[in-house]
Formats: sequence, structure tokens, C-alpha cells
Amino acid sequence: MDKKILIDLSKFRVCDDKSCDTTPPEGFFTIPPNINGLKTIRELAVFQFTCRKCEDAPCISICPADALEKDMDGLIHRHINLCISCKSCVTICPFGTMMSDFFVHKINKDLYFDLSDKHELNEFIKACPAGAVTLVDMDENPEANIYKLNDRVLIKENIWNTDKQ
Ligand code: SF4
Ligand code: SF4
Repeated sequence: MDKKILIDLSKFRVCDDKSCDTTPPEGFFTIPPNINGLKTIRELAVFQFTCRKCEDAPCISICPADALEKDMDGLIHRHINLCISCKSCVTICPFGTMMSDFFVHKINKDLYFDLSDKHELNEFIKACPAGAVTLVDMDENPEANIYKLNDRVLIKENIWNTDKQ
């Protein structure tokens, strides 16, 4: 059984805050023909785990391109074909949900790694901030702030949880 990929979002946030010289890489399980319009695993993760699902979501209100939409479960989705990368949503979100590199069009194919390939997975881990991505033999563990994104990926994030307030 393959180990799971544990992505520690806090390690990417530190990088984002300090405006790293290098753009973080992106990992995918299937690389589509046009990688310019791809959502990242981190984007899916922050909308699922970090976002506080504001009732009157200011990110949606401020978006000048109607690119953000809330689904029936309160999850925000960004329509990449509409997004103009203005980052207004990043600025207005009171909780720092999004990372600014989500909105950079990464045209360098060297920044994309197929995580279903062991060699590329190892290269992806090396290209990420130190300690941000590790391979683990474990399952979801909310007490350790580790949550399941899918069968192969676990996300570590300090999520807002009313049960802990
Ligand atoms: S403003 Fe931030 S926390 Fe609120 S819905 Fe938008 S992304 Fe989520
Ligand atoms: S960066 Fe994209 S999603 Fe965010 S406010 Fe601008 S157009 Fe909307």
C-alpha cells in the first residue's frame, strides 16, 4: 500500500507571507493537456479546511469577475476561467484563507509533478518548502490537526472549529 502524502499548509503559509523567491511547485495525480488552468491541491484543501465558510462571504462580494461561488455545502469554488488574478479575495478574507501563489499563472512545466509517479513525487517533495510535504503511514487524525483530503492526501492545518472554542 502506498504511503499517504501529508501536506502541511502552515509551511506553505510561512513561505507565502515571506514572499519566497521561488514559486512553490504543484502536484497532481493526472496532468491535463492544459496545465495553465488547473486548481491546486492546496487550493482545494484551503477551501475545504481553512475557509470559515462566511455566510455573507466577502470574497464573493468583492470579486469583480464573479469567479467565486459557494456550493450547497458552503464550500467556495473558484472558476479559473473567470478569475482575473486581481487577488481582491486574498486581501479581503479576514482569515487569510488563500495563498497568493494560487493566482500566479505557472507556465513553467518544471513546477508540475505527477504524484502518481514515485520519482516525480520525490522530486515534488524536494521542491516544496522544507518539511512541508512528507510521506506517512497514518490516517486522518483531527486531534493532531490532520485531515483527509482524499485517499492519497492528508492535509495538516489548524482549522477553525466551533467545537474547540
Ligand atoms: S472570506 Fe475567507 S473565510 Fe470567508 S468565505 Fe471567503 S475565503 Fe472563506
Ligand atoms: S483573484 Fe480571482 S477569484 Fe479572487 S477576487 Fe480576483 S478575480 Fe475574483
